[in-house]
Amino acid sequence: MIYKRSSALFADAEKVIPGGVNSPVRAFKGVGGTPIFVKEAKGAYLYDEDKNRLIDYINSWGPMILGHAYKPVVDAVVEKAKKGTSFGMPTEIETKIAELAVSMVPNIDKIRFVNSGTEACMSAVRLARGFTGKDKIIKFAGCYHGHSDSFLIQAGSGASTFGTPNSPGVTKGTAKDTLLALYNDIENVTELINANKNEIACIIIEPVAGNMGCIPPKDGFLEALRNLCDANNILLVFDEVMTGFRLAKGGAQELYSVYGDIVCFGKVIGGGLPVGAFAARHEIMNHLAPLGPVYQAGTLSGNPLAMAAGLAMLQELNTDAEVFNRLAEKTAYLHKGIAKVLNENNVAHTINRVGSMISVHFDEAEVIDFETAAKGNNDTFKKFFHGMLNAGIYIAPSAFETWFITDALTYEDLDFTIAAVNKVAKTL
Ligand SMILES: *Cc1c(COP(=O)(O)O)cnc(C)c1O
Repeated sequence: MIYKRSSALFADAEKVIPGGVNSPVRAFKGVGGTPIFVKEAKGAYLYDEDKNRLIDYINSWGPMILGHAYKPVVDAVVEKAKKGTSFGMPTEIETKIAELAVSMVPNIDKIRFVNSGTEACMSAVRLARGFTGKDKIIKFAGCYHGHSDSFLIQAGSGASTFGTPNSPGVTKGTAKDTLLALYNDIENVTELINANKNEIACIIIEPVAGNMGCIPPKDGFLEALRNLCDANNILLVFDEVMTGFRLAKGGAQELYSVYGDIVCFGKVIGGGLPVGAFAARHEIMNHLAPLGPVYQAGTLSGNPLAMAAGLAMLQELNTDAEVFNRLAEKTAYLHKGIAKVLNENNVAHTINRVGSMISVHFDEAEVIDFETAAKGNNDTFKKFFHGMLNAGIYIAPSAFETWFITDALTYEDLDFTIAAVNKVAKTL
């Protein structure tokens, strides 16, 4: 494939945008080469600036669960835009989407809309601190909750020590309030809690991890976390920015029947426009301004175009009883097909999958946490990525990302993809 125009556009972008991109993973640093500039997209396909067609397994990192330029969503946005794009005043559509979200998701009474997943998680943690009157939080190594300071933390030494900043600009003062735990390791979490008695406001977790590849929670892990939180007066924050409205109507909470105290959303809930949200039962949400003392606000929060897109998307997902089964079946088919051809070609791999999230990992060992995820062979991944790209298939340009399956994919697309994996596997 030729990427002449993409390369030229990237060179122009680098002059005026740091690294040429507005979010780092887009720059292809993890795989080498220059990023592809998209011109348009429809259904399961991206069309780039060099007129290549790519089958899309990223789908804007999740939001386009029903495919690109999905008509009901596009129509809703276009109609809304004609009536004004922002007012900074209440609009009826905010209540409509809030009612629908609250009805689809178990265990939430009220929801507040923001503009990104980052904002949702940042605000959820502030609310948890304000509600419990405690400062510290526990997050898990390898889980991503957006780029706010409290989450940009790496492990210190030993289970009971504080985390340290993993980006310049995050202060030691901030880092000392974030404790880092190991995913799927309940003993580690218990130790952290015991070493910080009555100091922990919340535990925040991706109930199915998706930002170190896809990693499901071990049997009983979420239940055990729930029990630990209850026993220690700690709020459990489920970051469902990736899993919400993707794994089921009610997200991972519905799938595992374990419920968070505060739940964060993003990605699918905005239908492809910039939306995040956080939600909880009344007593917690009533702590937020203007009802309560915890401050949180946004000039463009609840923006009518964003709400129109999100509402149209949720309505589709709410009325199509089969959509989540269909997505899971397509993903299972892809899983089976890829595993078969990788096995036939003797490529060491592990595939993790939950619903319509799947990741292919180039190492035989089970992938259960950040440490095991980091063991994957990155050179193999790079070759795999570029091989797939040459075959017209776009997967995430990083070994630590999940593939997001869209309902727009046909079984022909999946067969085409499996055949491409078979070809690429011979070069690995
Ligand atoms: C994408 C993501 C975020 C951050 O959302 P943005 O909209 O990129 O700020 C937070 N948490 C999880 C689990 C995510 O996947």
